[in-house]
Amino acid sequence: MLPLRGTFFEDPVPTGEEVPLDAVRLLAPVLPSKIVAVGRNYADHAEELGNPMPEEPMIFLKPSTSVIGPGDDIPYPGQSTRVDHEAELAVVVGRLARRVPLEEVGKFVLGYTCANDVTARDLQDRDGQWTRAKSFDGFCPLGPWVETELNPLDLAVECRVNGDTRQAGRTSQIAFGPAELIEFVSQVMTLLPGDVVLTGTPAGVGPLQVGDRVEVEVEGIGVLQNGVVTS
Ligand code: ZN
Repeated sequence: MLPLRGTFFEDPVPTGEEVPLDAVRLLAPVLPSKIVAVGRNYADHAEELGNPMPEEPMIFLKPSTSVIGPGDDIPYPGQSTRVDHEAELAVVVGRLARRVPLEEVGKFVLGYTCANDVTARDLQDRDGQWTRAKSFDGFCPLGPWVETELNPLDLAVECRVNGDTRQAGRTSQIAFGPAELIEFVSQVMTLLPGDVVLTGTPAGVGPLQVGDRVEVEVEGIGVLQNGVVTS
């Protein structure tokens, strides 16, 4: 690793040091002011939950306090008996973005990382709206880093639980792509540097249990691994 001085949103300067990756603990790669996520953006996932595909992106928010980093534990909330994994490609915003036209979106994207949109499925069904189900502390693992040179349009997105593959999709199946989502969301709310837009999850969502080890892997980025613990 090459340590930088400053933040990667404003021309960082290399310090000249080198540090081995295994000598550091990686934190969440960004501290977003908000996480904007999208429901039903892969047809096979909409179908597995018995939902039609939306005609426009169906967006919702996760709070900044749901973010944890690679290797951190996901606390299993006592209010739920059905907590699901959702492996997702995450877009990291690099510059303040307001009403960005589609063709200019690239200038506002810093890069991409892996996300797990952890969801208390029983509370999502019971509440009718999604805030509680999507917002527990630890329900947005992000990482392990931001990949800044990546074409996001046809990448494998996988979820493994204790080594068994549960989800395996490709971003080419996405209905509203990363650029369309940034354009759409930025018409609604200003996106700040470090904000994260999640692009939805492919089929195969399923329950996590305390003691599980869950991995999200996005091709060309890396593996985001987290344990599940009692809260
Ligand atoms: Zn999701």
